[in-house]
Amino acid sequence: FRKKSLSLDDYINGIKRGDRAILSRAITLVESSLPAHQELAQQIIEQCLPLAGNSMRIGITGVPGVGKSTFIESLGGEITKRKHKLAVLAIDPSSERSKGSILGDKTRMETLANNPDAFIRPSPSAGSLGGVARKTRESMLLCEAAGFDIIFIETVGVGQSEIAVHSMVDFFLLLMLAGAGDELQGIKRGIMEMADAIAINKADGNNKDKANQAKAEYNSALHLFPPSPSGWTPKVVTCSALHNIDIDTVWKTIMDYKELTTENEYWPAKRNEQAKYWMYETINEKLKSHFYTQEDIKTKLQNFEADVLNNRKSSFQAAQQLLDEYLKK
Ligand code: GDP
Repeated sequence: FRKKSLSLDDYINGIKRGDRAILSRAITLVESSLPAHQELAQQIIEQCLPLAGNSMRIGITGVPGVGKSTFIESLGGEITKRKHKLAVLAIDPSSERSKGSILGDKTRMETLANNPDAFIRPSPSAGSLGGVARKTRESMLLCEAAGFDIIFIETVGVGQSEIAVHSMVDFFLLLMLAGAGDELQGIKRGIMEMADAIAINKADGNNKDKANQAKAEYNSALHLFPPSPSGWTPKVVTCSALHNIDIDTVWKTIMDYKELTTENEYWPAKRNEQAKYWMYETINEKLKSHFYTQEDIKTKLQNFEADVLNNRKSSFQAAQQLLDEYLKK
């Protein structure tokens, strides 16, 4: 059956009173590629903006199997016990290619999914990484307007998506395992460099000693990185998401970061930088998608692609001709 359509005011009022069903529908509009949906979504976002921003945005990343969902359940439980409202959003680069999402699966985080103070939304599944990231950021703003004061942005720590996440969060947490080796974990140096904290998960049972050893190793590795303008030295902690050990230490680390960077004013400065970044990102992304969705360009692209493959045109020549036609319009 068709749901009754909602007016702009219905959306705004629903979000303001923290109505999750309406928040969900607003996020569906944000994720939709239909122009009419996009237009309404932009109006909703515009009106929600003054209510957004008063949250802690935390990026959580790590390779599949490191324990992200278990960790989010565990830390999420701690956070909601402390009277916070938590929204969990995801950016999943796998969903684009395979249509199957690593992070989207419904059976994950069951306890949190049933927690009245938590809201979980899987990754938008269509579009380029840039588009998906923008939509996630816009959804985050809607969650904030709906009263969620802690936002987790979850991503799989294997690719480009970390950069997008890093540019929308206040704190970036990297989950790792002891004894797996960085190569094995597929974590790039660049990702480690972005981390405000590394949590070595599964520090339980026979794994404890190895985890402590890894903690010492990562600590010395992090000291080799240039100091961050935040004035914060990245911390390494061990924890067990499964047995809920030292999860409160992770939370305390995040709070320490907030205290320090609020005091030295890095926190608001970073938010401003991010706002600027997203202005340019949005322009870039929209220009690109506008270009690629023009019907005549789509047809010509195919022909030009064949010309380039057969050496009838150079790549540069083909690109220039297409752009000239686009700009003439
Ligand atoms: P994700 O793919 O990163 O989301 O990882 P999951 O949360 O699905 O966890 C992968 C597996 O590791 C599951 O079987 C979990 O039960 C297990 N696991 C997660 N955290 C811990 C932990 O702290 N200790 C132990 N021993 N196992 C864990």
